Amino acid sequence: MREIYPSHYAAFHCIAGACPDSCCKEWEIVVDTASAERYRSVSGTLGERLRQAMITDADGDIVFQEHNSRCPFWNAQQLCDIHGELGEDALCETCRLFPRITQDYGDFIEFDISPACPEAARLLFSMTPKQWQLTERSSPAMTEEPPEYAAANMRRLQEQRQALFFRLQDDSASACAQLSACLTLAEQWAGVSQEPAAVPCMEESVLSFLRSCEVLTSDWKQMLEQAANAPEPENLLAYTPALDQEIRLFTMDMLYRYYLRAAYAETPEAEILPLQMAAFSVCVVLLYSRRLGFHTAEQRLRIWQLFVKEIEYDENNLEELEWQLETNAAFSPAAFRAYFASLGGVQ
Ligand code: SF4
Repeated sequence: MREIYPSHYAAFHCIAGACPDSCCKEWEIVVDTASAERYRSVSGTLGERLRQAMITDADGDIVFQEHNSRCPFWNAQQLCDIHGELGEDALCETCRLFPRITQDYGDFIEFDISPACPEAARLLFSMTPKQWQLTERSSPAMTEEPPEYAAANMRRLQEQRQALFFRLQDDSASACAQLSACLTLAEQWAGVSQEPAAVPCMEESVLSFLRSCEVLTSDWKQMLEQAANAPEPENLLAYTPALDQEIRLFTMDMLYRYYLRAAYAETPEAEILPLQMAAFSVCVVLLYSRRLGFHTAEQRLRIWQLFVKEIEYDENNLEELEWQLETNAAFSPAAFRAYFASLGGVQ
């Protein structure tokens, strides 16, 4: 079995009390069945608290009932009482694994750390695009399921993804220009192309979509309201080398997480979707940066991180975004290319 890791994976450690966000805040913690079973048998005060905190939500999942929008076990020192009293092994799967992502393709597994965690996002953005590489190692672990895709199709997708990575690492053109070129390549490979249509204003379309989503965190809510109500800024976006680098890294990381999943899809458009998702994310960051006057890398990191937390980690929001990308002309590859081409100083 082959295991694949991106360069920044091994460096990740949860920074716990020093975390500027925390996965224990404003997020429902789903408790897996084995952990729930174990928690039911814990003795003492912690056992009583565990049994009291576990409730079944509307989807039928067992979750910890939030207290003041926080996990009830996240203490005043911003540390976890379950970890403190019972050890790391006693954490439920959600807490033990986050922000690690495992994508099992049957005959190989890809691992990543999600930029929904601020420390994972910081590690991602602390590299240069050329330093972002994949490494492979073999593991004695046996696969449980045989691959459910055609091997030749998977090889083709892997080669295409690699070509997209090279494009995004090539700094002879701006990140947005390279992302536009990647959208064109993906359309050609998929044999799908659309005539550029008259496109509604990208910023308004993005805002309208974001306002239709479920909102999980108070910071995102505040940013969204401010962006929606901000007067049209006089200044154009400050397109800096740091922002250019973030766009390349975030896009590569998103392609790494999503591109090969097209091997299971029935339509060729599935190969373009991850690039549209990356382009949409870039539009969100550009929009917030411009309207909120966020010009530092630290401020932007918060937008990238919260975007992933709000959209990718909410099943309904993610499904709705995918639907919009597939059906709404405002988010077609041609619309993203037109928008990126319209940004001053980006080409
Ligand atoms: S968000 Fe990341 S760094 Fe923060 S507490 Fe969770 S795992 Fe740790």
